[in-house]
Amino acid sequence: AKADDGASALRVGQTVTLYGGRTAPCKLRIIIVGCGLGGLAAAFALQKAGHECVILEQAPAIGEVGAGIQVTPNVSRVLLSWGLGPQLERTAVIPQAIVFRRWETGERVGYTKWGDLMLRDHGAPYCHIHRADFHRMLYDLAVGAGVQIRLGCAVTAIDADKPSVTLRSGESLSGDLLIGADGVKSMIRQVIVGGPDAPVATGDAAYRATIPTSLMLREDDLRGFVENPEMTAWMGPGRHIMGYCIRGGKEYNVVLLHPDDGSVESWTAEGSADKMRADFEGWEPRIQKMLGLVPSTLKWKLMDRGPLETWIHKSGKVVLLGDSCHPMLPYRAQGAAMAVEDAAVLGSLLSHISSPAQIPFFLRAYQDLRHARCTDTQAQARLNQLIFHLPDGPEQQARDEDMRRAMEAELG
Ligand code: FAD
Repeated sequence: AKADDGASALRVGQTVTLYGGRTAPCKLRIIIVGCGLGGLAAAFALQKAGHECVILEQAPAIGEVGAGIQVTPNVSRVLLSWGLGPQLERTAVIPQAIVFRRWETGERVGYTKWGDLMLRDHGAPYCHIHRADFHRMLYDLAVGAGVQIRLGCAVTAIDADKPSVTLRSGESLSGDLLIGADGVKSMIRQVIVGGPDAPVATGDAAYRATIPTSLMLREDDLRGFVENPEMTAWMGPGRHIMGYCIRGGKEYNVVLLHPDDGSVESWTAEGSADKMRADFEGWEPRIQKMLGLVPSTLKWKLMDRGPLETWIHKSGKVVLLGDSCHPMLPYRAQGAAMAVEDAAVLGSLLSHISSPAQIPFFLRAYQDLRHARCTDTQAQARLNQLIFHLPDGPEQQARDEDMRRAMEAELG
């Protein structure tokens, strides 16, 4: 594939075929708990494989939640194969490079060219989009495929042997297969583990904010971040910041990772923009200027968990997917990516099922294909916490020296 700019990368990418369009000989009724990115992706993949899917979501409405999200080529490949190229083209920004900078001077210590090289090397582009746009495109896709989505339906109990669920309203529903896509605080995970199983605080929290790029374009020293879309990572002691454009370049997304000082795990919890500015005092002048343009911020406590031995209930009729089974720090930008990959693999496998009796076999195959990859990605994300947050000193200098050498080799 050859592409000369980001937009054409998306068009070229549309030729990728992952989902084969196979319909299973046996139609299952599948209940999916959770209408996040993972639940929607699973519902679409399974509905397309010939099954009947219903998503139960506790939230009463789908809102504009979150901020930017990185869609790495392993996921954009799946989305393109699902026909989402035009939607990505409308909203995504394709970063031309990743740049690493020193926190207090902004000095460039690392640089890797991305853009078309992603397409050349991975067969699909690297995209930056707003989580709400990502969610909307999967929502429309799932509904278009015939998935039933029921909002305001909190699942309060499950019977894993049937399997069936009970809603807060008292209503119960049963099916052939139950999928827990209910996120990091998953209730269904507890049923599989067989007891209370709380997420683990990683010690970090994230401020997330978007800045209208029209404001940045007025500032000589900020204009470059918009006109030359790259992903920038500023690394400092115990903290780092990621910045990149989203929404066709209309907004600049900043995520500020820092030691947690008492936040909550929520897509919608407001943080204090003034406290955020105070927490990053002393960072390079362009950061100070950027943060001065932030009107409001979301604050998110970052939780993860260790790997689970099994994602499947002993009944063989309940399985986990996404953050419910492998939540991770966002330091490799792979949480949603792994959830979408889980969904694609499950959909593909269950397009071969010819009897409900085969469900346990296919769930084991799903777990065998996914577990090691997701566990490894969880560990890599934790490792990046150490690498990005090194205190200033010999280890940080060695890290930066390695990155500089690679950058010089890259730039010739
Ligand atoms: P969720 O999105 O959490 O969805 C779970 C859903 O289940 C929710 O809607 C919830 O309301 C519902 N639910 C829960 N319990 C019940 C119940 N009992 N009954 C009914 N409904 C229920 N990932 C990337 O790939 N790239 C990135 O760049 C990236 N950046 C990130 C940055 C930050 C700061 C954070 C915090 C995360 C980031 N992630 C990123 C991770 C990514 O957002 C998550 O991994 C992903 O959203 C998980 O999707 P999910 O569907 O598994 O869970």
